[in-house]
Amino acid sequence: MAGVSLEPDRRGGRPVFEAAVALARDHGFLLAHDAAYSEITFDGFVAPSVLEIPGARDVAVEIGSASKTYNMTGWRIGWAVGSADAIKALATLKTNLDSGIFNAVQRGAIAALTGPQDHLAPLLDAYRRRRDLFVSALNDLGWDLKAPLGSFYVWFPTRGGASSADFADLLLERAGVVVTPGTGYGANGEGYVRASMTIADDRLEEAVARIRDALE
Ligand SMILES: *Cc1c(COP(=O)(O)O)cnc(C)c1O
Repeated sequence: MAGVSLEPDRRGGRPVFEAAVALARDHGFLLAHDAAYSEITFDGFVAPSVLEIPGARDVAVEIGSASKTYNMTGWRIGWAVGSADAIKALATLKTNLDSGIFNAVQRGAIAALTGPQDHLAPLLDAYRRRRDLFVSALNDLGWDLKAPLGSFYVWFPTRGGASSADFADLLLERAGVVVTPGTGYGANGEGYVRASMTIADDRLEEAVARIRDALE
C-alpha cells in the first residue's frame, strides 16, 4: 500500500464520501455508510456523516449502532437514516425476514439514546489513553505512527516487509498477542495489522512489553 499516508486526515473521509456519492448518482446504486464508530473520536475531531454531502440523501443511507457508543456490542441494534426509498425498502425487507429485535434490547437502546450521555467522555478518555500508550510504545520500538483520530483501533505497518498474515502469526506465536491481519478488511490492508484498544491498560502494557521482547 505504498503511498498511502498514515497521517490522520482531519477531513475525516469527506473527499471519499464526495467521490462515492458522485459514483452512486452516476451509476444508480445505493451507498450504505457503516458509521458504527461515529461517536468514538478524539482530539476534537468530529466524524462527518455521508448525508452531509449534497445529493447524498437521494442515494445513500447511513447505518448507526448502539454497539460502540453505548457498549452494547453484540446486542445487534442500530438504525438507518437516509434515502426515503431505501428506508422504505429496508422496512419491507425486515418485516418479511424477521419479527423485530427482542423487546428488552429495544428498550435498552431507547434508554441509551434518550438518557444522559455522560458515560461517553470517560469512555473516550479510556480509549484515547490506551491509544496514546500503544502508539508511543510502538514509536519507541521504531515505528513512526500518528495517533488515529477515531475508533478504538491502532493500525500499524508490519516489520521487515512481512505480509499481514505472517506478521500476525509472528506476534501470536512469539508474543502471544493477537492482532488482526489488515487483509481481513480488503486487499489494501496488506502490509498492515490492526490492534484493538479494548483491553485494560495493564494488559496493553504487557502486550507491548511482549511485542518488544519478540522483536528483539
Ligand atoms: C461493531 C461494528 C458494527 C456494529 O455491530 P453490531 O452488530 O451493532 O454490534 C458495525 N460495523 C462495524 C465496522 C463495526 O465494527
